[in-house]
Amino acid sequence: MTDQAIPAEPAPFTVDDFAARLHRSAQAAEAAGLTGLLVTPGPDLIYLTGYAPVAITERITLLVVPVDGQPTMIVPRLERPDAEATPGAPAFGLVDWTDGNDPYEASAGLIGPGRYALSDSAWAMHLLALQGRLPDTSYVSMTTALPMLRAIKDEDELERLAAAAAAADAAYGEILGVRFTGRSETDIGTELAALLRRFGHSQVDFTVVGSGPNGASPHHEMGDRIIERGDMVVLDFGGLKHGYGSDTTRTVHVGEPSDEEREVHEVVCRAQQAGFEAVRPGVECQEVDRAARAVITEAGYGDYFIHRVGHGIGLTTHEPPYMVEGERQAMQPGMCFSIEPGVYLPERFGVRIEDIVTVTSVGGRRLNRTPHEMVIVE
Ligand code: ZN
Ligand code: ZN
Ligand code: ZN
Repeated sequence: MTDQAIPAEPAPFTVDDFAARLHRSAQAAEAAGLTGLLVTPGPDLIYLTGYAPVAITERITLLVVPVDGQPTMIVPRLERPDAEATPGAPAFGLVDWTDGNDPYEASAGLIGPGRYALSDSAWAMHLLALQGRLPDTSYVSMTTALPMLRAIKDEDELERLAAAAAAADAAYGEILGVRFTGRSETDIGTELAALLRRFGHSQVDFTVVGSGPNGASPHHEMGDRIIERGDMVVLDFGGLKHGYGSDTTRTVHVGEPSDEEREVHEVVCRAQQAGFEAVRPGVECQEVDRAARAVITEAGYGDYFIHRVGHGIGLTTHEPPYMVEGERQAMQPGMCFSIEPGVYLPERFGVRIEDIVTVTSVGGRRLNRTPHEMVIVE
């Protein structure tokens, strides 16, 4: 096929965007009864400042966001020029430390006594060192304290998520045209990954190709199994485009499916639709899981739907909110998450259908546009 034009890079986030996020995060910390946030390199730091060190190393980089007062980032001296060049830099203070000096002494100087939310991905060595320096300071994980910190996407973020979903859709459209019979799962997965990159992904996080009995194991990624005529094939793939995630699943069949395969696929289709129709602001996230699960249970396959129905997506491909029984968080416009029911018949086959959906003021909007109907491939 001819190369489709890859849309231009979206306009970068501005210092105003980062200043507003920093301000909101401090307010959220205050509302949660915290003293502030301690943010180490990773998605939280990218969200709040735009800064992503080239390599995450043992040298500590730490953004301290107090509930009131100036956010300050401490960086290794040799990385200071990169930190200064980040678009959000005018919104926070910058201090550096040099090799040979104690970075934790310098970090401790920015952190008062109290209770701080700390990035989930902070290195234990950094936390342990801070605990040693600051006996009157306690820590809680960012996800535990502020699960919704990055959950509500603004228009610019939604545009990126939609672009990532469109790229995943385009990759799926292409893979339908390739030959499956006689090729290994890994071979198809490699081709899917190349397609995601061709449609603008800078990073591929996973390409699941679960053929025949392998499709019945939701965590099976791909292997040497040779795909045969008669196989159901679960294709679940995603990564990052313009910094934001895609994550899509479709289940195809090689050659003509059996009546049972058609039925299971149809049940999963209806479950996905029921989950989607449960999306509405103010409704608890668990209702999406319940709505999808009810369809599968009524059809008699309840024991074979063995995972939650969805997860948030944004700067990472898995993040809060989780669409799971027990999640009482209310959906709010701008939230973005997967709805991905599945049925897994052990040692036989599996079916999963996954779209990324965003919450609007009136309901849900799908970011993936490819049809759910089972496609027959060769
Ligand atoms: Zn079959
Ligand atoms: Zn997925
Ligand atoms: Zn997913």
